[in-house]
Amino acid sequence: MPPLMHGTLPLTARLEPWMENLVQDPELCKELLGQYGSPLNVHDYSSMSRNITELRDAASGHGIDFQVYLARKANKTLGAIDKAVAEGCGVDVASFHELGQCLQRGVSPESLIVTAAVKSRALLKLAADNNVVLSLDNTDEAADLLELAKSGGAPVPVALRLASSSPEIPPTRFGLAAQQWLDFFAQWDSPQAISIVGVHFHLNGYSGGQRALVLQESMEFADALGQLGHTVEFVDMGGGIPMSYLDDSTQWTGFWEALADLPDGDESLTWKSDRLGATGPQPSNALYPYHQQLIRGPWLDQILAARNPDGSRSVAQMLTERGIQLRCEPGRSLLDGCGLTLSEVAFTKQRSDGSNLVGLHMNRTQCRSTSADFLVDPILVKASGRHAPERSPYSGFLVGAYCIEEELILRRRFEFPHGISKGDIIAFPNTGGYLMHIIESASHQLPLAKNVILEGRYAVLDDIDQAGAGIR
Ligand SMILES: *Cc1c(COP(=O)(O)O)cnc(C)c1O
Repeated sequence: MPPLMHGTLPLTARLEPWMENLVQDPELCKELLGQYGSPLNVHDYSSMSRNITELRDAASGHGIDFQVYLARKANKTLGAIDKAVAEGCGVDVASFHELGQCLQRGVSPESLIVTAAVKSRALLKLAADNNVVLSLDNTDEAADLLELAKSGGAPVPVALRLASSSPEIPPTRFGLAAQQWLDFFAQWDSPQAISIVGVHFHLNGYSGGQRALVLQESMEFADALGQLGHTVEFVDMGGGIPMSYLDDSTQWTGFWEALADLPDGDESLTWKSDRLGATGPQPSNALYPYHQQLIRGPWLDQILAARNPDGSRSVAQMLTERGIQLRCEPGRSLLDGCGLTLSEVAFTKQRSDGSNLVGLHMNRTQCRSTSADFLVDPILVKASGRHAPERSPYSGFLVGAYCIEEELILRRRFEFPHGISKGDIIAFPNTGGYLMHIIESASHQLPLAKNVILEGRYAVLDDIDQAGAGIR
């Protein structure tokens, strides 16, 4: 059966079985929205097991010691933490509250790492008091930690965040160059206050080649730290492990080619012929690459097999020779398949120039990441009731609740071959990584979306939405 909704040029979502079941059950969708409000973030974490296994299989193929840490900032639910921990993973936290919630939840301190970009003294203290590894970003932060650690007992475990010095790696605000760290620790007067147990980095983008380079640089850095008497136990390569939302590569490339050919002002593909940051027929780099060929396991495999400059050893060999554990912090790619957002249609109407609009009970921060758009087709769930007449085809844009002209939920035009009306439901698939929470706002004092965990046809509110649990 052709879909009830698709982009004018379709970008068809890859769906997990639980998502298929949900969108084929209009009664359940309606019931959920009735109970929890629109929009609603629905979770089923079963896919996380597969995602983790893909990474672990690649690592064990190279015989390395390996550990996965879920990057918590990609999804705020406590259910996601529970699942990661049940799978034997750790959690990477980016704030005082993220850390506090994990500790309260019973995540063991050795399964946590704090990678917050800016660390409050309260965060440093909470980590130090609980013996949680802190990834240090800069020397002022190190000095803040030293003040705390001086008064305490056991040395605080830290990883040093490495800013690559390689000319092939773009400049980064995160971490310091190896030499800066070495200079700092050469004149460090309280060596017993902290213990350097790891080297950490996180790169922008999804390049495996860049990660292989910086892993080698990290091991050279670990060797230099070893000469100063520190024992580096792990190198943490951060996140950015790729995933793919779309199966069809020709849909993906075809969309960008067609968009480039569009005359200015032609709205047949996007609102106000928005190029989404593209300057030609190539995918824009203002957006996540929603279709990718090399993902998770095979991607990691390539990195581990990459050779050092003289070709004598692979990245995997360099790790095992040193007895160093490789860690990674995937957010998005671990949550692949774990979430879907439901939203109720509030109205259909015409823009003042006659163009068709579909208004949703949600705002554009509720299905959006830092990318300029989410290029995955939503799914229409016909829930407006059996009394609705067979409607004629409709074509238009999805608009949201903020009082702004540019309040588009998605920037592409959508087709509804059998119409759409108030009371129908739109499902945004695979929103679990970033699309739900990373920029959600309660502007206009509109409430944040609720988060539920689905077990079959039964939904429970995630504990992050229980009174007192989250940050409201
Ligand atoms: C954001 C972030 C991650 C997760 O990145 P993904 O792209 O979701 O895998 C991991 N580590 C650090 C330090 C981060 O800032």
